[in-house]
Amino acid sequence: MKSAPFVYHAPKTVDDAVAELAEFGPLDGRVLAGGQSLVPMMAFRLARPTHLVDINSVAGLDRLAVEGDTLSIAACVRHAAFHRSVVSGPTGSLLSAVASNIAHYPIRLRGTFCGSLAHADPASEWCLTAVTLGAEIVAASRRGRRVIAADDYFEGMMVTALAEDELLLEARLPLLAPDTHFGFYEFSRRAGDYALAMALVTFRLRDGVIVEPRVGVGGAEARPRRMAKAEALLAGQSAGTETFRAAAEAAADAIDPLEDVHADAAFRLDLVRAVTRRALEQALG
Ligand SMILES: Cc1cc2nc3c(=O)[nH]c(=O)nc-3n(C[C@H](O)[C@H](O)[C@H](O)COP(=O)(O)OP(=O)(O)OC[C@H]3O[C@@H](n4cnc5c(N)ncnc54)[C@H](O)[C@@H]3O)c2cc1C
Repeated sequence: MKSAPFVYHAPKTVDDAVAELAEFGPLDGRVLAGGQSLVPMMAFRLARPTHLVDINSVAGLDRLAVEGDTLSIAACVRHAAFHRSVVSGPTGSLLSAVASNIAHYPIRLRGTFCGSLAHADPASEWCLTAVTLGAEIVAASRRGRRVIAADDYFEGMMVTALAEDELLLEARLPLLAPDTHFGFYEFSRRAGDYALAMALVTFRLRDGVIVEPRVGVGGAEARPRRMAKAEALLAGQSAGTETFRAAAEAAADAIDPLEDVHADAAFRLDLVRAVTRRALEQALG
């Protein structure tokens, strides 16, 4: 099916893009980034934006840079940018490991990190990454710029704190300490499919004891979330099978599972238990 008619805009500057969003956002205007979610939705007429503000020609939005102790990822940085390690140390390795699980190669060449955060699919790997690492999201509009903590940004299934006239300008990821261990484990039916459940974990070790644990679970609920009880069970404990099993159980206990044609509630909880334990084991190495 062809998309419903729309008016196309191609701003060259951020100021022009936000001016167009101020005018057309309230008329169901949308940003076009990689188009890998929006265009299929338009083709199926699940989305019928009246105006498209294509940000691909906006100067500077391909910027990917380390600034102090954060990695700044501007709106048009593609998933494929992370195939190689974009920064030395665990952050670059973690992003490469996660990126290889997103969709298929041609989609990764066009789709963007920030587009994933704007789309906020519960099974998005980048949304899970943003929540687990504690990203900051920078939104720009005619009213100015504001910074939103990832914890406050994801509000529900494909619902975010972004207003209709706001451009998600960049995401800022705090760099992990050099001795950080990480693990990422995703279960999907076929390579490239959306995850039915996935877990991203990080921690540091002091004489075999876990410090600063972070446990994030995605694909299982309406939005990705850190698992506070699992983290509390890990902190200060020896890294090993029993500790990891207890944390994985706590993660599954905390989940209010999505149910769909792919997985009922009981299967999803089993998956959360398994992906959390496996991500922790992977992190220990
Ligand atoms: C077959 C297939 C498999 C896929 N598998 C996966 C997968 O396993 N994991 C996964 O995470 N994704 C998957 N995707 C989606 C893909 O990763 C998309 O690239 C991503 O969801 C959105 O990024 P985009 O840049 O393509 O955004 P677009 O499609 O251009 O936009 C998506 C939405 O976000 C809004 N938006 C985009 N950028 C901004 C911005 N800067 N500011 C404000 N609003 C913005 C748009 O207006 C639109 O509403 C898959 C897609 C396909 C077609």
